[in-house]
Amino acid sequence: MRKNDLFPLTIEDMAVGGEGIGHDQGMTFFVKGAVLGDQIMARATKVKKNYGYARVEEILLPSENRVPEVCPIARQCGGCQLQALSYEKQKAWKEARVRNDLIRIGGFAPELVDRVVDRVMEPILGMEKAFRYRNKAQFPLGENREGEIISGFYAARSHRIIPIDDCLLGAPENESILKAVKDYMRACRIRPYNEVTGRGLVRHVLIRKGFASGQIMVCLIINGRELPRQQELIDRLTKIVGMKSICINSNCKQSNVIMGDETRCIWGQESITDYIGDIAFAISPRSFYQVNPYQTARLYEKALEYADLKGQESVWDLYCGIGTISLFLARKAGQVYGVEIIPEAIEDAKANARRNGIENAHFFVGKAEEILPDFYEGRRDAVAGDALHPDVIVVDPPRKGCDDICLQTMLRMRPDRIVYVSCDPATLARDLKTLAEGGYSLQRVCPVDQFPQTTHVECIALIQRVKS
Ligand code: SAH
Repeated sequence: MRKNDLFPLTIEDMAVGGEGIGHDQGMTFFVKGAVLGDQIMARATKVKKNYGYARVEEILLPSENRVPEVCPIARQCGGCQLQALSYEKQKAWKEARVRNDLIRIGGFAPELVDRVVDRVMEPILGMEKAFRYRNKAQFPLGENREGEIISGFYAARSHRIIPIDDCLLGAPENESILKAVKDYMRACRIRPYNEVTGRGLVRHVLIRKGFASGQIMVCLIINGRELPRQQELIDRLTKIVGMKSICINSNCKQSNVIMGDETRCIWGQESITDYIGDIAFAISPRSFYQVNPYQTARLYEKALEYADLKGQESVWDLYCGIGTISLFLARKAGQVYGVEIIPEAIEDAKANARRNGIENAHFFVGKAEEILPDFYEGRRDAVAGDALHPDVIVVDPPRKGCDDICLQTMLRMRPDRIVYVSCDPATLARDLKTLAEGGYSLQRVCPVDQFPQTTHVECIALIQRVKS
């Protein structure tokens, strides 16, 4: 096999990045744009010793899992890697990924994972309507060849803007917001920022919407401090139903980072409010907040179910962000202790606790792998409740999973239950293996589809201390 060779290929699987996988002459090929079940004519684009890359020259027989892409730029944008795969198959593929990682990386026996009685793998919690779930969007602005202002998304692995005003994963209001911003810019002769020259004013439009509250926030990220004739922008944006907050954020650095350090509210409230279940959260332009609120509510319900709280328990919530899970659990627990590395997030967590009248949630800034041992080894003063002997520990780490020191300290604390929320099944499986070797047994794993149309896989696991 050489580069540019043409050969028929059947797509048997899909890779973690969404590429189709097929085998030919003992080699594995990764094919972008090919869907599980497709029979294609492939053209080799890169050939290594036992694997290679190819592109679709022609679809000989389309897979029955193939569906028409609803978004006109699905292929160029790269945000929705799985849009051409039916939603039923997307869910099945995500379930299979979790199951395979548990067996292959976690070392759990297939008999355990698949057992019929007391089944470990729960069916994935999918969405009924698998579009328009994102409550946050960031659109870069730029110019096309004719010098017209465009907004859209960057093409995969580049900074070329593909014009689109209505991402089908986002809120329907995004389109009229972008139109209002561009109309204002045209009327006031304001140029979008140019990354190459460093000139121009408006860099990005950040839009956030509280899906439960209907409140909308727009933040313009600008290469400067002032917006000329800002009232004209305000007049346009405030015609949109739900508009509650208009902000500008200054970012004068010539870098890839989207937001600068300074944010100013120019109209309405500093933050918007949203609800997960019956708990209210304040969201400002910078704060971290789950992007799919529908599925987040279901994920947290699952966390609550797995935590199985009766009312008196002490619970750690490690990697707690703005305290969403902590506050959700606090209503049902004795004391909750949240740990998070970002100081602003902890400020938000404390404010959110106050706002909801929750007094049994305590928050600490720092690394989970430092704060937890500090408490356990007595380098920190005691707090309300029994923090050293928790009943439940919840973790929700970033993709790289938990630090080993964190896992070892959790094992020494011997909680009855550990609830592990994960956005990467591979590191989840690795960490569950460590915990299983430390005297815990895997009870349940439930994938929750937070990001339909994309390859992201979120799931939640329950493990329990083996009583000796
Ligand atoms: N549980 C929250 C946020 C989860 S995202 C929610 O459901 O909304 C993971 C969080 O872990 C991020 O907020 C990130 O800032 C934080 N984080 C990353 N590394 C950390 C560490 N070593 N110790 C504590 N928190 C960390």
